[in-house]
Amino acid sequence: MKHLRTLTLVLLLGALATILCAWIPALFNPPRAPVFHTGGLVKQWLDDVPDSWPDQPFGLTYDSFSAVNPDFPKPPRLRKRQGMADGVSNSGGHVTFLGDQPNHVIDIIQAGWPTHTMTHRGPDDARPLPNNPISSAFVNGIPFPSPHGQRPLPLNPIWTPFALSTLVWSAVLFIAYQLVMIPFRIRRARRTKTNHCTTCGYELQDLQTCPECGSQSAPNPT
Ligand SMILES: [Zn+2]
Repeated sequence: MKHLRTLTLVLLLGALATILCAWIPALFNPPRAPVFHTGGLVKQWLDDVPDSWPDQPFGLTYDSFSAVNPDFPKPPRLRKRQGMADGVSNSGGHVTFLGDQPNHVIDIIQAGWPTHTMTHRGPDDARPLPNNPISSAFVNGIPFPSPHGQRPLPLNPIWTPFALSTLVWSAVLFIAYQLVMIPFRIRRARRTKTNHCTTCGYELQDLQTCPECGSQSAPNPT
């Protein structure tokens, strides 16, 4: 029972650490980071245009090869959206195009460290929001004040990395806790051995209740 409680607590703390490791970079990431920055703490560039993204009435998605840049290693999917310039997304390879375009497309933002664990829709994702405000917050994140103005904190976990990150953080926190506790354990063992109160260090003689602080001690094994 006690172990189950410890395990639950450790896993909850691991999940909390995972969420903080996504939220903190999400807050401090500049609003329009370099477009082709695909790694790091926050990923702002979508490698593939999602198939679920509707072409109508918000825009138009089509495959295009070398129409915009012959250096693309594979056909980029070019997207036109009403009222916007073209945005290009490319699944892999180094993209050096449209970096300075103000109207590049950011559909999905992922955040987290050391791996991306949470996500929300980017500013250019024009899909209609769910009617339910809770579902809307789930896909769009919750707006939160930051040095860059209001930034969305992602609520939508990317489940596999989220679970792995939770396990890793749980293990790290558990080990750190054990290390911090070593001096206290040593002191406690020494006090038990010399028949002193484990709480305050008062010499107990053969008493089981400490006359100094009132705490109960286990009977001296010797
Ligand atoms: Zn005591």
